[in-house]
Amino acid sequence: MNIIIFGPPGAGKGTQAKNLVKKLNSFQVSTGDMLRAEIKKDTEIGKAIITNMNEGKFVDDEIVNSLLKNIIFDKKKSNKLIFDGYPRTLNQAKNLEILLNKSNQEINFIFFLNVKKDDIVKRIEKRKILEKRSDDNADTILKRYDTYMEITKPVLEYYSKNPNFHEIDGSMEIGNISEKIEEILKL
Ligand code: AMP
Repeated sequence: MNIIIFGPPGAGKGTQAKNLVKKLNSFQVSTGDMLRAEIKKDTEIGKAIITNMNEGKFVDDEIVNSLLKNIIFDKKKSNKLIFDGYPRTLNQAKNLEILLNKSNQEINFIFFLNVKKDDIVKRIEKRKILEKRSDDNADTILKRYDTYMEITKPVLEYYSKNPNFHEIDGSMEIGNISEKIEEILKL
């Protein structure tokens, strides 16, 4: 089963993805984590993306798409993917479909965690203290939220037509969100 967790920054995608990874014995595909790892290792990709990441802007589709390929074609992970933070653009959504098709896979569920801007700002302020992420500050949060709304909206419209799309109230407690998702997945 392949699942996309979709939603604005701070909606709790990572937390829900980690829960599903445990429950389904699957693999989290967090492009944010992959990109942060590139910066930490100071690779060519890391050097190219650091400014965009710190300013809360999206990293180029080409770079993000290139990081994804190996994971999709990894047989061990086949049909056990939990996407967290990908796709974020229509180009990425189409790329994902092509790669999954080529590897005889599909998206089985799409969960949209819907959270309002005010709640997101409060949550990310909290996460900043806990995780010390360099892109978690008030200005960047607002920028990331606005970027999300602007660029990701067409992706949301695209996926909302999919019969496997489920909108979840992301302002609920973490446990309640997990319960709702597990109920839909019949876990
Ligand atoms: P996240 O950890 O998912 O909140 O992502 C943190 C940052 O990484 C974002 O603000 C973007 O700069 C970058 N990023 C992560 N995933 C993507 C993606 N799919 N497309 C473009 N940029 C991304």
